[in-house]
Amino acid sequence: MANHRDEQHQFETKLLHWGSEMDPHYGASNVPIYQCSTFHQEDVDNPPEHDYTRSGNPTRQAVEDQIAYLEGGARGFAFASGMAAISTAFFLLSAGDHVIVTEDVYGGTYRILTTLLKQMNIESTFVDMTNIDEVKAALKPNTKAVYMETPSNPTLRITDIRTVCDWAHANGLLTMLDNTFMTPYHQKSIPLGVDVVLHSATKFLGGHSDVLAGLAVAANDSIGRRLKGLQNSLGNVAGQFDSWLLMRGIKTLAVRMEQHESSARKLAQWLVTDPRVVNVFYPGLPNHPGRVVHESQSKGYGAIVSFDVGSGERAREVMSKVKLPLVAVSLGAVESILSYPPKMSHAAMPQEVRMARGITDGVLRFSVGLENIDDLIADLDQALGK
Ligand SMILES: *Cc1c(COP(=O)(O)O)cnc(C)c1O
Repeated sequence: MANHRDEQHQFETKLLHWGSEMDPHYGASNVPIYQCSTFHQEDVDNPPEHDYTRSGNPTRQAVEDQIAYLEGGARGFAFASGMAAISTAFFLLSAGDHVIVTEDVYGGTYRILTTLLKQMNIESTFVDMTNIDEVKAALKPNTKAVYMETPSNPTLRITDIRTVCDWAHANGLLTMLDNTFMTPYHQKSIPLGVDVVLHSATKFLGGHSDVLAGLAVAANDSIGRRLKGLQNSLGNVAGQFDSWLLMRGIKTLAVRMEQHESSARKLAQWLVTDPRVVNVFYPGLPNHPGRVVHESQSKGYGAIVSFDVGSGERAREVMSKVKLPLVAVSLGAVESILSYPPKMSHAAMPQEVRMARGITDGVLRFSVGLENIDDLIADLDQALGK
């Protein structure tokens, strides 16, 4: 039996050996794409493991097992997108419930909370999650959950996961965390008290800008059973080919993250010494306000570096002159991606709110890819101009 799993293994080994990595029938080196919607039942009184692909499919199951193992959770679930995973997790709440949310949460998460969920009478309060007193002050009699995202986007502010979870559990609240920026390679939050870990797998986990997918991991079986019911009811599952691409991407997560991060550190260090750059946001910089907390809960600083070039005009100049990165939304790919949050991820945010959160008109967000870092720096150097 070559499908093998051993909790003692290191993370890099777990990426490749998680217990359902091979086809058990032929020993094929990869899980096949089971391109079927239904499954023959030899004996209707003893139904097979899978009976219908919305409810379960061996290809999707393999990547669900993989992410659950990597995050250290009880069960994993694969969805059609990160937003599908996040929306499904919010369905753990009921009408009349209240949730406390990181103020600089991902734009799509902000949107569903302030529109659809609000309409369904699920209330949210956005707080500066880096300040535990503000989190505590948001507690109401109907509060049921806390939703975190750390580091946040695009200014990379850090939430103390353990402190928030301890307080949340003392108050009987469910804890959820969007771990897209760090991935389980750098940050495992279930041991810190998170009940539901969420991912846009479109980013680092898929890693190649070729798949849209989302993942959720339940820390325990009871939340796992509820998420399974929701996934089956909502039907917003990842397709088999996307599940397969995602599984393939995850296998190289450790080597990619290691390289992404070492380049991001060099880029951040280069940017801080450059007089053309007004401000640099990266949790690995010595003056980053969340650095100590971040180091207590993560084993790396990630691959996203944001920086302020002073004005919207300068930002546009840089975007028009860079030759290597894609100028695009999204992040976490093998190729570098340069984003302009004021016009992309944070375009929907009122100007004064955006300013108050440090997302000024000159802020650019660099997702450092696997190109040689000297080439990336030389490219940025010429793009920054005189
Ligand atoms: C992209 C992203 C999402 C949404 O994921 P999709 O796959 O685009 O639906 C959620 N959270 C974070 C932090 C993201 O970067």
